[in-house]
Amino acid sequence: MVLDERLKQIFIELTSIDAVSGKEAPVAEYINKFIGNFGLKGFADGASDLSNGNSGNMIVEILGGGEHLLVAHMDTPRSTARLNHQFHQDRITSDGTTPLGVDDRGGLSSILFALERAVRDGNLKPCTLLFTVCEETTLAGSIYYKPAPAVKYGFVFDSYLSPGNFVSETCGAINFELVVRGVSAHAGISPEKGVNAIKIAAEAMAGFPFGRIDEVTTANIGIVKGGTGTNVVCDEVHMTGEIRTDFTHHGEEIMAKVISDFNKVCEKYGGKLESKHFWDFLPYSVKEDDKPYTHFSKIAKRLGLNPSPKKSMGGSDANSLNVKGIKTINLGVGAQNPHGNDEFILYKDLKMASEIAYQLLTTEIE
Ligand SMILES: [Zn+2]
Repeated sequence: MVLDERLKQIFIELTSIDAVSGKEAPVAEYINKFIGNFGLKGFADGASDLSNGNSGNMIVEILGGGEHLLVAHMDTPRSTARLNHQFHQDRITSDGTTPLGVDDRGGLSSILFALERAVRDGNLKPCTLLFTVCEETTLAGSIYYKPAPAVKYGFVFDSYLSPGNFVSETCGAINFELVVRGVSAHAGISPEKGVNAIKIAAEAMAGFPFGRIDEVTTANIGIVKGGTGTNVVCDEVHMTGEIRTDFTHHGEEIMAKVISDFNKVCEKYGGKLESKHFWDFLPYSVKEDDKPYTHFSKIAKRLGLNPSPKKSMGGSDANSLNVKGIKTINLGVGAQNPHGNDEFILYKDLKMASEIAYQLLTTEIE
């Protein structure tokens, strides 16, 4: 299959910009120039205050902004500097030494290409384009975003699933940090004077509910750091981890139990526990009769696709938008193997993602 030359050009231009999370300004500039070519104006909001980055979200309100959003994120998780595109028979890849940046420049290219087409065809409908910052790190862009009152629905172009599939529900995730504090001492001369934080952490972690707790819940400690020397009774161990679950109260309960269990072991040996936790993203569930679900299903069928809702165990801008009361689904763009050096996208998926974007730009939600 041959990819439309203009879509290919936009994809190459966007993926050639190196802009990791917090450094999205050149992508925002590209978008500004792009839309300026046909007289549209965008603005950057104040999301950089939250992200500490060099750009806010880019927002383009078309014909008053309408009720629905088309969303893609401007950052990549890893640098794409020195990207060398490879055009194969059916797909685009990098040369294997860098990521392709297809997450989420694939989504971004689809929207911009469709926008240009809709302007040319003269059939744009009211809607808002939201290009976010720091999706890959903290979702800071979509968390900061302040929607106009009329905005009710969102379509995020940021799932690795192939077009037609969409994420209608996800779990939420708590990130936590636990610090066990003991007392340091010489391990050979006066071990009695010490309280070993490693011993406490080990015993506490042995009781941690690692892995799949139930059908909708998982827990993990992924990083453990501590100790300064083999001859020192360790006085500090840091553990960071996460709990993923569909139900916020369930997540809170598990977190509270973990903290209480760790505290008990600390007390037993004279150590102290410090803990921090926060919701990295909250769960959402968009139902069959919700507008984004029905509207996308209609569009997908029109394009000959089989609309398939999926559940995901990962978060995206759709999670923060749903928290704001904007019913949002995350659409499959077909950006495969995201974040690896083997990222790729099929020409047919990139083309289809842009067809979906075109439909969303040119049809009002009923
Ligand atoms: Zn992404």
